[in-house]
Amino acid sequence: MSSGLTLFASNIQSNLLLAGLGVNFELRVPGYSFKVHRFVLSECSRYFANVCSGHFQEGIMGYLVLNEVEDPLMVLRMIQSIYIKTYTDQESNLPQAWRRYLEQSRVDSVVGEGTSASAGSQASTAVEDEEDRASSASFTPENRPDGLFLHIDMYWLAEFYAVDALSTITLQKFVLATSGELFSCNLLLWTIEYLYITTPNQSRATLGQKMRMRAVYLAQKSEMRLFREKKFKLLMETNAEFMWDYTTKCLRAKYLQCRREECQATIEPKAREECDCGGEDVCQVCFDSDWYGRVREMPMCPKCNQGRLARWDLDFVDKADMTSVNAFGEMFHPSARET
Ligand SMILES: [Zn+2]
Ligand SMILES: [Zn+2]
Repeated sequence: MSSGLTLFASNIQSNLLLAGLGVNFELRVPGYSFKVHRFVLSECSRYFANVCSGHFQEGIMGYLVLNEVEDPLMVLRMIQSIYIKTYTDQESNLPQAWRRYLEQSRVDSVVGEGTSASAGSQASTAVEDEEDRASSASFTPENRPDGLFLHIDMYWLAEFYAVDALSTITLQKFVLATSGELFSCNLLLWTIEYLYITTPNQSRATLGQKMRMRAVYLAQKSEMRLFREKKFKLLMETNAEFMWDYTTKCLRAKYLQCRREECQATIEPKAREECDCGGEDVCQVCFDSDWYGRVREMPMCPKCNQGRLARWDLDFVDKADMTSVNAFGEMFHPSARET
């Protein structure tokens, strides 16, 4: 399908949605029930396709309770990404039609069997939870880069419900927000803290991996400046996962290796022209080729001229880099004699 036609189709679908026509499934969070189209939902995510099918209870009941989400705006953004391939960052910027949709999705009764009788208090409970979480975070509230964290939260949501369109949009927004001069060392440190410490609960540790790699990559790039920050030292000391990623991934795993078994030469990529993020898809070269849909063809091995170069085997890198891990360990956990 041409992209023009896709856009046309998604226009029709979002118009139907906002007019409430043909909607036959509901996404529920406390205080809200968003009416959507089963087939649109099924098309955009394996997870929803399963849920909406007749094989699960939810498919028969016609609604799904999103236990992972408290904030109705997050659901709204997810629905936007599914229907119009983008989402509104701030509530105050919501287009009129989407604001109306949000208001119309408000319900008195909450999740489950309840009729409209009992539950008026639920919405305010959700707001209180929100405030609790905000105050327990380790940032001073006036400095919190909420706009940035929003994309991280949305990315987790996208991965959890396997909404690929949302993953892509979110990552693009995250990359934009972490590029350029306005993105300071301080912001980077907060981002790392948010990605590695604040947000993930254990069960979702692998989600958000790509954003973590982006942060690690940026941290390695601004290495000299970061070393002077107390907070960086603290992150390295307190979070083993971050230290491991920082010492073994991205720039530190950037070497390419010939895939021909008799050769296996390792080669350092040319700066700027070739991927230098160790195949993690977080450097400029990777972004450019993904965004413009270019096919990335790996170069021929300059040594044997017969095999193609590929990402250096990660297991091998992890082993090979043990020395640098130990060196870092020594630096941040100095042995007893030094202190
Ligand atoms: Zn790359
Ligand atoms: Zn070779």
